[in-house]
Amino acid sequence: MPELPEVETVRRTLSGLIVGKTIESVKVLLPRIIQRPDDIRRFEMELAGHTIVDVGRRGKFLRIIMDQLVLVSHLRMEGRYGVYDQNDEVEKHTHVIFRFTDGTELRYKDVRQFGTMHLFLPGEEFKEKPLMKLGLEPLEETFTSTVLRDILFKRSTKIKVALLNQEYVVGLGNIYVDEALFRAGIHPERPANTLSDREWVSLHEAILTTLNDAVEAGGSSIKSYVNGQGEMGMFQHSLQIYGRKDEPCMNCGHPIEKIVVGGRGTHYCPNCQVNE
Ligand SMILES: [Zn+2]
Repeated sequence: MPELPEVETVRRTLSGLIVGKTIESVKVLLPRIIQRPDDIRRFEMELAGHTIVDVGRRGKFLRIIMDQLVLVSHLRMEGRYGVYDQNDEVEKHTHVIFRFTDGTELRYKDVRQFGTMHLFLPGEEFKEKPLMKLGLEPLEETFTSTVLRDILFKRSTKIKVALLNQEYVVGLGNIYVDEALFRAGIHPERPANTLSDREWVSLHEAILTTLNDAVEAGGSSIKSYVNGQGEMGMFQHSLQIYGRKDEPCMNCGHPIEKIVVGGRGTHYCPNCQVNE
C-alpha cells in the first residue's frame, strides 16, 4: 500500500514525464475506476485538448493539474502509471489510456482494480470527496509539534489509530506510523490524551524524519525502479521496526513484538516503547 513517500516519488517521476503534454484523447477500459463524473464518455470528452501543467499531491492522492481541469487519482493497493509509445502493446490490467498529441500515452494499470479517479474544475477538488476532509500535510511548514498536539491531545483514541486517521494528519499508513512511534519511543496503544508535551515534540520530529528519509530514499533510488516505459515500481526502505517481528530491536536488542492495534498488524519494542 503506497503511503506518502511512495506517492511523493510517483508524483516527482510523473511530473518529469508528462508535464507539458497535451491530451488528444482518453479511453476508459474499466469504468469503475472513474468515480467522477458518473458518465464515462463525458470523462473521456472533457479531458481531450487539455495540457498538463503540474502534478501535485494531497495526502496519498495525486493531483494531475491541467489548464482547466484537475484529475485526482488514488493508486490504492496496486495502481501504477506508465508512459508508453502509442504503438506499444497494451498490457493486461490497463484500465485507462491518456493519448497525448506527441504520440505517447500515459497508461493506468491496476491489477486489484481498487484505484480511483475523480475529475474536477480547479479548486473544486478541495470542496468535495475524496479530498474535502483531509487533515494536515506533514511535510508542509505549517505542520509543527504544537499543531499536532492541538488536534490530538484531547482524544482518548490510541495514538496509532489517531495517526492513521487521514482527517487529522494525511499520508501516514501502517508502516510509517509504526516507524514514527518507534523512533519517538511511544507505545502504539497509548491514548493520545496521555502524551506529555515532550512526547508530542518527539513524535512530531519522528514523523518528519521517518517521512523525509523515505522520500529521500525514493528519490535517490528512483532510477532503478523506473523501467523503459517510465513505469514506477514501489521501492523498499530500510525499516527499523515494521516487518521485523522477533528480530532484535536496533536500540536495545529486545525482540520486537507484533500485536493488533485498531485491526492493523503493529510492530513495537516492549522495552523502548513502554505503555505507561
Ligand atoms: Zn528496544
